[in-house]
Amino acid sequence: MAIAMSHLDPQAKQAIRDALQQQRDFLVERLRAGLSEREQNQFSAVLGRSTGDSSDEALATSLGDLSAARQALEMRQFHALDDAARRLDNPDFGLCEDCGGEIPLARLIANPGAVRCIACQASHERTHAGMAHGSL
Ligand SMILES: [Zn+2]
Repeated sequence: MAIAMSHLDPQAKQAIRDALQQQRDFLVERLRAGLSEREQNQFSAVLGRSTGDSSDEALATSLGDLSAARQALEMRQFHALDDAARRLDNPDFGLCEDCGGEIPLARLIANPGAVRCIACQASHERTHAGMAHGSL
């Protein structure tokens, strides 16, 4: 059988689910804090959007003059968690999307949205380094 199976047992998945829920709630509170009532309505609309939408930054910018970059980052984290919550019951959850290797449980609890093992994530970030910050 060549079907990819997760190394995570139900107990491990529950631990990830709990961590995910906690981080999601924390992010929602952070994002909601400091928004006016009008912005909160906009914010609810943003949360209802599908994941992977590259207009997150633009939307975050329109939400007010809090640090737009920070909000965009938290919005991406939020979507990553949301996405992870949907993938959690997939048989291949917890496997690296690049090499197919197992992502350690500790890493998944620290960052439930992780889709790569540490080695692949590091090389992914090297590949994309400078795109966001303009390296000098
Ligand atoms: Zn990998």
